[in-house]
Amino acid sequence: MIQKCPQCGAVLPADDSCQHRFDQCMALEFENPTVFGAVHHLTVACYMLQHNGYSRDVWLEARNMVAQFVHDGVMPAEMRRRGRSRLDSGHRTWSMSKGAKLAEFAAIVWSRTIADIRLDNPEIYCHDVTQWAMSILSDTEWLPK
Ligand SMILES: [Zn+2]
Repeated sequence: MIQKCPQCGAVLPADDSCQHRFDQCMALEFENPTVFGAVHHLTVACYMLQHNGYSRDVWLEARNMVAQFVHDGVMPAEMRRRGRSRLDSGHRTWSMSKGAKLAEFAAIVWSRTIADIRLDNPEIYCHDVTQWAMSILSDTEWLPK
């Protein structure tokens, strides 16, 4: 038996789910913060973007943040210095999911999902997460900045 995620379209066995995959990623990242955790800022944003976990404004802001990480090579510490701390998981003092969601979400076709992330070793993992982030940017190029 297989099932398709209603949000990102990932095809997974019936006893697996995107949430379960995400929990596995988080466990690896927290156990190995310097290796697997090197892409933590991307993993969380990618998962939330693909599962429509943010309100519209935060969704667009999070995608812009991913673009700065991936295309401009901005590091998470630098991003925090720029005052984008409301997307930093340590500073969630206001709701990031409250309010109108991205109306265009259902029209996005995702070319990669969390089901494509291999957990074999840190090199493969970080590579796959980075590819995932890049695919999210190109899959949503038509949306407003
Ligand atoms: Zn999913």
